[in-house]
Amino acid sequence: MESIVNPKVIYTYQQMVKDLKKLNQVYPNLVTYDVIGKSVDNRNIYAVKLGFGETEIFLNGAHHAREWLTTSLLMNMIDYYSQAYEANNSIGGYDVKTLLNKATIWFVPMVNPDGVSLVQLGVNSAKRPDEVIAINNGNDFSTWKANIRGVDLNRQYPADWDSIQDNVGHPASMMYKGPTPLSEPESKTVYTFTLNHDFKLAVAYHSSGEEIFWKYKCKGELLETSKRIAEIFSEKTEYQLVDPGPNPSGGGYTDWFLTTLKRPAFTPEISPLVGPRPVPLKNYDKIWKDNKEVGLMLATEAYLHL
Ligand SMILES: [Zn+2]
Repeated sequence: MESIVNPKVIYTYQQMVKDLKKLNQVYPNLVTYDVIGKSVDNRNIYAVKLGFGETEIFLNGAHHAREWLTTSLLMNMIDYYSQAYEANNSIGGYDVKTLLNKATIWFVPMVNPDGVSLVQLGVNSAKRPDEVIAINNGNDFSTWKANIRGVDLNRQYPADWDSIQDNVGHPASMMYKGPTPLSEPESKTVYTFTLNHDFKLAVAYHSSGEEIFWKYKCKGELLETSKRIAEIFSEKTEYQLVDPGPNPSGGGYTDWFLTTLKRPAFTPEISPLVGPRPVPLKNYDKIWKDNKEVGLMLATEAYLHL
């Protein structure tokens, strides 16, 4: 099969929707998708199911608008793993067909479609451009991380939300945690979707810094299990494991997953530091090389050991 997803372009919401339809046409049982919620501006939030197995894991991307290359990465994974499944090929020693008959990988490739569209296409992609310009204090949206009404979606989850550090007290392009936890439809959608499943582990892809957050306040057996998988993750990607110290700031998706569901969760930061802007496309080849086996590695760990 030929590739469907081209990750080496500015990968828009529209393109993602087209590619999801095509993937489902070409791999009708293997790849299916659902609308699990709506953004503030009424775009669809999609969940994609890849595989047939009982063991479920979950990978999501683009909580943060300018970090849309994480969507390209996840869509590329779906395409690449599907091709290998159909051709009965293995990838890096993982027998894809056997694995995806035992495990299912769920994806929400773009948590924040309004924010991604704002960064890529500008303010006319928004339903209420004037409000967005007022929040941003101007017309350059390349640094924007929040959802379309200025709430940082990775500061929305109920994990020590009251004590989040460096909160901006009002809607902003980044760092505002919102009026209450899960006040935003995008974070609420991912939260509810997670509770409706039995994910053995989860990953929230971000950029940048080539590091992995993995141990938010975890202890005992969870700490041991998380550490073991984090070390494999780090070896595969060559990303550094982050020690958050005794008082990490909460509110993130994986902070919540670890503390509430008490199962492993990882926040990898793809790409070297690039400053407050989207990761340039020229970094993609290395990001792909580092991460192309990650979904298979995690599904294997979940199936065999969790
Ligand atoms: Zn981020």
